Amino acid sequence: MDDPLPPASVAPAAMPLATLLAQVGVGRARVDLDGCWQWVDAQLCAFLGASEDAVVGEQVTTWLVAEDARAFERQLERVRAGTDPKALCVKVVRADGQTGRLRLALARAEGTEPAHEGVAVLARAVGDRPARAAEPEPEREPERMSDLLVSLLDNTTDFIYFKDARGRFIACSQTMARVTGHAHWRQMVGKHDRDVFPSDDAERYTDSELPLYNGELDRLDHVEPYLTPEGEQRWVHTNKWPVHAGDRVVGLVGISRDVTEQRRLRAALERTDERLRVAGSLSYDVSYTWWPAVDRLDWDEGIDAQLGLPKGTIGTRLEDWAAQVHPDDLPQLKAKLDAAVSQGAAFEVEYRVRHADGDDRVWWERGVPVADGDAVPDRWVGVCTDVTAQRAVEADKSRAFAALRLAHDVFQYASEGITVTEPDGTIVDVNAAFTEITGFAREEVIGQNPSLLKSGRHDAEFYTRMWQTLLDSGEWSGEVWNRRKSGEVYPERLTISAVRDDDGQLQNYVALFADITRQKAHEADLRYTAQHDALTGLPNRLLLQDRLEQALRHADRSGRRVAVAYLDLDGFKAVNDTHGHAVGDELLAALATALRRSVRAHDTVARIGGDEFVAVLTDLAAEGSVTFEMERLRRAASRPVQVGARRLHLSASIGVSFYPQVPAVDADGLLRQADQATYMAKQGGRDRIQVFDPTAHHRVQARQQRLTALALAITEDQLFMVYQPKVDMRTGQVMGVEGLVRWAHPEQGVLLPAAFVPLTEGHERGIELGEWVLQRCLRDAQQWRARGLDVPVSVNISPHHLLHAQFVERLAAIRASHPGALELEIVESSQLANIEAARATLVACRELGVRISIDDFGTGHASLTWLRRLPIDDVKIDRAFVADMFVDRDGRAILEATLGLTRAFELGVVAEGVESEALGTALLDLGCAVGQGFAIARPMRAAVVPDWAAAWTPPDAWRGLAGD
Ligand code: C2E
Ligand code: CA
Ligand code: CA
Repeated sequence: MDDPLPPASVAPAAMPLATLLAQVGVGRARVDLDGCWQWVDAQLCAFLGASEDAVVGEQVTTWLVAEDARAFERQLERVRAGTDPKALCVKVVRADGQTGRLRLALARAEGTEPAHEGVAVLARAVGDRPARAAEPEPEREPERMSDLLVSLLDNTTDFIYFKDARGRFIACSQTMARVTGHAHWRQMVGKHDRDVFPSDDAERYTDSELPLYNGELDRLDHVEPYLTPEGEQRWVHTNKWPVHAGDRVVGLVGISRDVTEQRRLRAALERTDERLRVAGSLSYDVSYTWWPAVDRLDWDEGIDAQLGLPKGTIGTRLEDWAAQVHPDDLPQLKAKLDAAVSQGAAFEVEYRVRHADGDDRVWWERGVPVADGDAVPDRWVGVCTDVTAQRAVEADKSRAFAALRLAHDVFQYASEGITVTEPDGTIVDVNAAFTEITGFAREEVIGQNPSLLKSGRHDAEFYTRMWQTLLDSGEWSGEVWNRRKSGEVYPERLTISAVRDDDGQLQNYVALFADITRQKAHEADLRYTAQHDALTGLPNRLLLQDRLEQALRHADRSGRRVAVAYLDLDGFKAVNDTHGHAVGDELLAALATALRRSVRAHDTVARIGGDEFVAVLTDLAAEGSVTFEMERLRRAASRPVQVGARRLHLSASIGVSFYPQVPAVDADGLLRQADQATYMAKQGGRDRIQVFDPTAHHRVQARQQRLTALALAITEDQLFMVYQPKVDMRTGQVMGVEGLVRWAHPEQGVLLPAAFVPLTEGHERGIELGEWVLQRCLRDAQQWRARGLDVPVSVNISPHHLLHAQFVERLAAIRASHPGALELEIVESSQLANIEAARATLVACRELGVRISIDDFGTGHASLTWLRRLPIDDVKIDRAFVADMFVDRDGRAILEATLGLTRAFELGVVAEGVESEALGTALLDLGCAVGQGFAIARPMRAAVVPDWAAAWTPPDAWRGLAGD
């Protein structure tokens, strides 16, 4: 058996442990594994109220009340199972029937052989002591006692220590040795706190023991921190009391139990409680506690789910959270947090966070500082609420408001008159232009009906039809004669639209009208100019067409015949070449007069080209009767003409066709036939008349020829694309490139689209051409991407192509093999009058991810209707409008209003025809940043686009201008 006590030399003031224990009223015993007392000291015998003989060999449990007996058995069971027993408090029933409470500290005591194994017991009376401890008996069995004590010290999980009068360790439990870094507790004997603990701790312990030593206090009971050798801060619940010898304090006993886990648990509970308390008063989706000093952010479990992420994705540092926040909103979030931390204040902030579904969410976050007691706040408890839906509603409202404001401006400053009425026609508002045009003040017309403007020039049926159209389609437009306040009747161009609310309920009618008096007056002049040849005063092709159609209709009714004579002068080009154009012109004028005179008054002679004339002879009885008339024409053309000093003499080849025919033929057909006969006349030797023979070999029509040639051009690769960039004029960033088609014609050189695209309109070739262009543009864009330039390509689509039944299907197929960002440029055109059909196609295109742009915006008639009814992304303002900006103030106002419109409809806008630096500067001043035009770049071949994009920088004047 080990020496239980330290050698005297180590602990000079040490008193025998047994004596010390007896002095503090601690009894000792040993119990075997069957639960029988093996050995009991006098102190414990006194507790039990029986002599040692009466106790040894008896079951411990016979002294205990039933409940405690079971508890004791359980501890015994632990010892048998090889685990450490726990201390317990028991109620003891003494032999004399008195009861008392004992606290039993138990420890496994190992014997030299299993039979000697047992439990060391230290017993101390708690509460009312059943009996005053007897004076300690002289040491009777010091060895056995030491055995027990050593076992207790070696095995207890508590910290137990005994100190002498000068605070030096007499003995302590092995746990104590472990936390002070000693291999065995005996190494600590004779040492002082300051020798074994960190100095701060040692000083605290010594200070707290002072009152025990000097008699001011007879018990210390508190929780205090201590530091493990690993540097971990832990907590113990300590009980200490002094040991007296007479009235002298000769030592001290301490028992401490580690309560760190309990404390942590309690603290955690308290924090949760606190969080719930603060958070519960607010409505929120998720809450957190944030300790800025240690960079820890504890979220509710639901945080990941809120953002559609798997559980555990978001970490506990602020940066983990910052990674979820929209980068644009991060700076203001951080600023708010910094301010809150530096001021120890509450904060509130709104920002966007990323959701796994790809859409941002708007979070409204509120945090309040929390502190322990009076300390400075060390943490913030906060809650976050997803307010995406609310904010979307608010944003809609403010957009609607902005649109209303704009509408108001447009209303007031528009140059067109505007009338707003109730569904029953009562006028509710008019604008300034209304007053200017009609002469009526606003106050004079509000509450009235627009019929006060009626001129009386339209019959009732006109108005009935107008209303019917309005009711059926929600829109009417046309020309109307109205009467001003002054009584003057004037023409206006009027568009009336029905305005419905979201539920389709009719709210108002809005009428827009422009005074077209001046245009009408012009029109008469214009019509003449437009229909006559300036040189000869003869009808031109337009009027000829009109007259011819009239003649055919008349012939249909009268059953008479019509002859068309196509007359081509022979040798006119030589006159021009030898005598000059002035002479040529004079000759033409003279011949025109002669031709005109050679036909009857009701016949028409028109000039339709340089030296080409057409005569329409009407009211003919039979084919034969016309020969004479033709001969007169021929002779008129071959009469010598005196021009100045020269006498000129030409002839004419004349082709004739007749109406009616079987199969039926129209005006165009007749002209073509006559033209063809003229060709034959020329071939036949000139100066002759050739009647068209329908059965003869037809000359291939010019159009047909071109179309055929174009088919060949497509297959033989004569077509190519050039590209013109659209750029942000401030930054030089290339926003897109527009593909423009060219035809490298083998004989005629490079042809511009105007020379062949219009020909294909309505013809299957147009579809082929359109698809070729689409494919080529997407392919080129693909090659640019490989060279590092990733920009959307814009393709011009003709209306006829767009409305083709398979357009969307084919577009999808082309895109499948050539993916990439694509925009379609559609010209506002009367061919797209069927808005519903266009709408369906455009919606389908958009679903394919293709953007839609309106080309030449402002040149059509239905601009506003288009914007309202079609799914449009961008608008290209026609270069005529852009150029007009510099012409006068009106031009600038129109451009500004147009830009305002695009903003109201939230459309992208591109200005076309930026031909000069000054134009670009002016556009930027108006807030229009994206432009296209010769001042930026001329259309270029595909291969040079990437280098151009990399090298181009805007002129200095453009950089740094506002735009938006
Ligand atoms: P657009 O869509 O308005 O194309 C712009 C036209 O304006 C191009 O003429 C371009 O060269 C010219 N342009 C560009 N910047 C300026 C400038 O600063 N000043 C002036 N004065 N002109 C400028 P282009 O290539 O002759 O094309 C004419 C029209 O032909 C195009 O007008 C477009 O409507 C049509 N087009 C061109 N390529 C295609 C095509 O592949 N398919 C179809 N369907 N139409 C095409
Ligand atoms: Ca275009
Ligand atoms: Ca254009």
